[in-house]
Formats: sequence, structure tokens, C-alpha cells
Amino acid sequence: MTDYQKVLDSIYEDVNKDKIRGDVANYIPALSKVSLEHFGMTLRTSDGKEYAVGESDQNFSIQSISKLFILTMVMMHTDSDRWDRVGREPSGNSFNSLVQLEQENGKPRNPFINAGAIVMTDYLHDFYKRPGESILEFVRKISQNNTIGVNRDVFESEKATGHRNYALGHFMKSYENINHDVIKVLETYFFHCSIEMSCDDLARSVDYLVHSGKNIIEKSKARRINALMLTCGPYDDAGEFAFRIGIPTKSGVGGGIVGVCPGEYSVAVWSPGLNKAGNSLLGTKALRMLTNRLDSSIF
Ligand code: GLN
Repeated sequence: MTDYQKVLDSIYEDVNKDKIRGDVANYIPALSKVSLEHFGMTLRTSDGKEYAVGESDQNFSIQSISKLFILTMVMMHTDSDRWDRVGREPSGNSFNSLVQLEQENGKPRNPFINAGAIVMTDYLHDFYKRPGESILEFVRKISQNNTIGVNRDVFESEKATGHRNYALGHFMKSYENINHDVIKVLETYFFHCSIEMSCDDLARSVDYLVHSGKNIIEKSKARRINALMLTCGPYDDAGEFAFRIGIPTKSGVGGGIVGVCPGEYSVAVWSPGLNKAGNSLLGTKALRMLTNRLDSSIF
């Protein structure tokens, strides 16, 4: 039987020796204050056993990991591929790029880059009267933690300085790819990016993707979400992630990454220092060690 705790302990020992930790997300003032020293990791097996190291129960800003939950919520409300205002292709560009959006007439490449997530958030305004509350309700339910909430500092910080995201929203509105009020949609977008969770919460929250959708979404949709995570989850690092890690993941500029090995386990890791693509540097290394040491990959 695999000794998951031993594998996590060995990873923890190795990352602690690593002096190269990347940079925090300076473009969001509230995130620029977070220490680079944090590290936590949780692995949850398909039968619900949890293994953890470091600050696995410490809350952090989930940022773009929320895009995974938004995508799931939109797919829960749509019969097929109704969300045709967003593509399903890797972008090969940074997560907040404007250039590609102009070349492609305001249709974002995928739901995990900012522009795509803003359109998905716009869809949520069709389905819910108070989307922010509904998102929190959903996240609390899937992570079995009713205390999950939003960090107000991060929320206000993004609302005050997220000019690039406002630009993406207005630009897409000019192509009629945003139906609701841009400012309101962006407010919901910043709200879900500001949700705080721990590695323990995150590993639990994606259990439905380990179990083909289990009580949350149909099997075929769960499969598609995993496919999108693999091809687009870590932005322009998606190829490297597939190559070196080999499981579907979703990252956020708060330094968290959540991963899913269908049928086997889910994993969440947190280290606030980022690489150039905006993915946690040590988190990426830790996931590489994990799938190598467990010899687990979807391929
Ligand atoms: N809130 C961040 C932004 O909009 C999310 C980006 C991320 O985590 N990659 O820029």
C-alpha cells in the first residue's frame, strides 16, 4: 500500500531546502504583503483519507482556482456546450492578455484565462439573483466547510486596481460578449477571486472531479472539466504541466494549485511565490515530485 504521508514528508523536506521561491503577485497590493515562506500541501485519496504537511490548514487567497468552481456552476446549468461565448483551446498567452482577445473578436480562448472567467461570471448573472452568495454556498458545500468566506482586503484591493480586468470586460462588451453590467460582473469576479481556503479545503472541494462528478455534475461534464484543467488550467504553462506533472490542475496567483488524479486522489499545494506564468514555483515543483514519486499520471 502506498505510504502517502511518507511521500508528502519527503517532498516537504525537499522544498524546505529550496531557496528559490519566486515572487508574490505584486500587481494585487493586498497579495504583495504575503510572506514567501509559507508552504502547505494536502493529498486526499478517493476513499477520503487525508494526508498533509506544513500549513495545510492555513487560509490563503484562492484567486483563479475559483474559475474552476465558476466553470462547474455554469456547466451545472447548461445542457450541452451552451457556453459558446468562450473557447476550449489553450491560450499560449498570459492569463490577462488583451492582444489575443482583439485578434479573436472578443471571444476568450478558454474559461480559465481572466477574459474567459469574466464571461463565465457573466453567465452566472443569468442563473442567480445574488451570484456572489451562490458561489460561496457552492464552495462551502463541496469543501464541507461552512466558514469559508472572502478576504475583504483582497477584494477591495482588486476592485480598486484591477484596471486590466475592467478593460477586458469593457472590451468584450463592445463585442456584445458580456450581457450584464460590466462593473457588476467584475465585482462578482473579484469577489470569487478573493475567496480564502486552505489546502485541506481545496483537496476536499474537488472530490467530485476524482469521482466522475459524484452528486455534483454529470460524468461527461466532469471529464470535460478535467480535460480543460489539463489543457488550460496553468495558463501558458499547461504544456509543461502536462509534460512534467501529468494530472489536471488549476492554479491561482495566491500561490495555490489544486490537482486531480481521477479515481485516485486530489491534491492541493500552496506556496505564494510565483513563476513567470503566474503559477506557484515551489507548488509546481512539489507536484512534480508527487506524481513522480507516486508514479501517477493520467497517461
Ligand atoms: N484575480 C486575479 C486577476 O484577475 C486572478 C488571476 C490569477 O489567479 N491568475 O488578475
